[in-house]
Amino acid sequence: MDFSIKQSCPQCGAPVYLHESTSLVVCPFCKVKNYITNTAVPRYVLPCHPSINQEKEDLYHVPYLRFKGAIFQVNATNISHRIVDTTELGVTSPLLPFSLGYRPQAMQLHRASPQTSGRFLYLTIKIKHILSRAVHLADMTVHVDSSLLHRAYIGETLSFVYLPILEKRGKIFDAVTNTPLRQAPRDNLFLEKSKPFQYAWQPDFIPALCPHCGWDLPGGSNSLAMICPNCDTAWELLPKGFRELTWQQGESSDGQAIWLPFWKMTTQIPELAISTFADFIMATKQQFTTTRPGNKKPMSFIIPAFKVRPEIFLQTATRMTLVQHLFHFVPGDSHIKPRHPANLACREARQFFKVILAKSAVDKRRILPMLPGIRFINVKATLIYLPFHDDGHDFIQEQSGIAINKNVLSWGRKL
Ligand SMILES: [Zn+2]
Ligand SMILES: [Zn+2]
Repeated sequence: MDFSIKQSCPQCGAPVYLHESTSLVVCPFCKVKNYITNTAVPRYVLPCHPSINQEKEDLYHVPYLRFKGAIFQVNATNISHRIVDTTELGVTSPLLPFSLGYRPQAMQLHRASPQTSGRFLYLTIKIKHILSRAVHLADMTVHVDSSLLHRAYIGETLSFVYLPILEKRGKIFDAVTNTPLRQAPRDNLFLEKSKPFQYAWQPDFIPALCPHCGWDLPGGSNSLAMICPNCDTAWELLPKGFRELTWQQGESSDGQAIWLPFWKMTTQIPELAISTFADFIMATKQQFTTTRPGNKKPMSFIIPAFKVRPEIFLQTATRMTLVQHLFHFVPGDSHIKPRHPANLACREARQFFKVILAKSAVDKRRILPMLPGIRFINVKATLIYLPFHDDGHDFIQEQSGIAINKNVLSWGRKL
């Protein structure tokens, strides 16, 4: 479930209510549009009980790591996946509550800011370990006889949610409810293991304008890659701001086409001697019933740039990668519409190469054990839009006939 976050408009200061995955902040008062970026992990705090005077009390914020997304694992015999939605304590301490329960969903979170009173406890457990614990809780632990070969996180969100606590009269209080939790530790323990709000944690707000021509850069509320309707440039929203992307579109003879975004990630795999798509077909031992694609086109992975359930994501990425010889690309033209928002980051798609390779390999016993040592070199990302037609139930890709059920795309339901 998504959290709701209260945020001040960077232009006029009015309160704006966002979801965790919101990338475009539209102020309902001054109407200014900004994209939000974070070089640090976003930090949110649970609100203190109104009876607490935050200025006068010894207030501390306890970090919980929040992860919501899909985890894929490849081991010697199979590929498994799971949706994980977890909030885990990031501090090793028996004094602190292990879980926040349903409070983050039920309450209005605030973004941590220089105005947030109190100190923030250090994270003492590595993010990697917290995520491994989440995998364990999701019952995806690898059996003793089959070792883990690759794990990919296709994460929708990663953030810290802080629980405020108070130290008074020798006890720790939960500052959300203002009720005692247990005896306080020895003097100054929290003080030593905490620091005040850090400026590096603050997000940046970037005007939603094309960096090339200054035109409005439209996108859905969760978009991570946008096309300028004026100068036809494409931009990816990265933690440090916009980066220009190469973008292309598939050819279409259908005037009513619907366009879905994918990442075309061209690469070479030296350990398997793959540099062309024909090499990939050979290495994974594909059986083609029709003509074998013998062309020398460079190898690319074709990965959805939109979020869908893990099994659909895996199936679509693998099938699209295996039919890449059917697509012909031309330079992108912003007039093609409707275009599905691109809301899955390129860096997440990159984590997926080994999963697609494992899924495509006919001879899994040979390819899968090689995965840990496999490298992808000269990776080049292009945002591509491919034409689909709506048959009422599915979106059908024009050249390959690959279908994506409309119900799995929330956007599909709105059309
Ligand atoms: Zn405003
Ligand atoms: Zn422009």
